[in-house]
Amino acid sequence: MFNLVLFGPPGAGKGTQSIKIAGKYKLGHISTGDIFRSEIKNKTPLGLKVTSIIEKGELVPDELLIDLLKNAMHKFEEINGFAFDGFPRTIKQAKDLDILMAEEGSGVTLTLALEVDDDELARRLLNRAQLEGRKDDTAEVIANRLKVYHQQTKPLIDFYDKQGKFKSANGTGSIDEIFAELCKIVESYID
Ligand code: ADP
Repeated sequence: MFNLVLFGPPGAGKGTQSIKIAGKYKLGHISTGDIFRSEIKNKTPLGLKVTSIIEKGELVPDELLIDLLKNAMHKFEEINGFAFDGFPRTIKQAKDLDILMAEEGSGVTLTLALEVDDDELARRLLNRAQLEGRKDDTAEVIANRLKVYHQQTKPLIDFYDKQGKFKSANGTGSIDEIFAELCKIVESYID
C-alpha cells in the first residue's frame, strides 16, 4: 500500500492536489474537511456538534476523528492506498493513524507538504470566500486557522521527518506545475 498524507496550511492547495494524485495513483481520497462540511450540510448529530468549532477556525476534538476515518477508509475498493487530505492535524491524530494503519498491516508511506507563505495563503482564502462562501473563510477566522496550523499541526513536520517520511514542495505556480513536482516525489517512493 502507498499511503500519502498531503500536508500544509489552509489554502495551500492540498485538496486540489490530493484529488489529482489520488486519481493518478488509484488512492482513496479522504478529506476530513469535506466530510465535516457534508455532515454540517446534512445536519447530522456530528455535523451539529462541529458547526461552531469549524466556523471559529478551531480544530474538531481528536476523539471525533478516528471513527469517522475508519468509516471513510472502508468505503473504498481496489485502491493502492490512501491520500489523506487535512488529516492528521495533531500529533495525537498522527499516532492514532499509525495504530489504525498497523491494524491493516500498513503505515504512512510519505507526508508531502505544500509550502506557501502566510500572505499568499490569506489572499487565496479570501478569494475562495468570494467564490464558495465558506463560513470559515472570513479574515478573522482565516487568521485563527493559520495560528492553529502553526501551533498544532506544524509539529507533525518533525514527527514525520524523524521517520524519514517528510518531503516538501513549492506550493506556488500553476496547478499542473505543482502536480508534476509532487508526482516526481511520489514516484521516488514507489518501488
Ligand atoms: P483548510 O485546510 O482549508 O483549513 P479543511 O477543509 O481541511 O480546510 O478543514 C476545514 C475545518 O474542518 C478545519 O478548520 C477544522 O475545523 C476542521 N477539520 C478538518 N480536518 C480536521 C482534523 N483532522 N482535525 C480537526 N479538525 C479538522
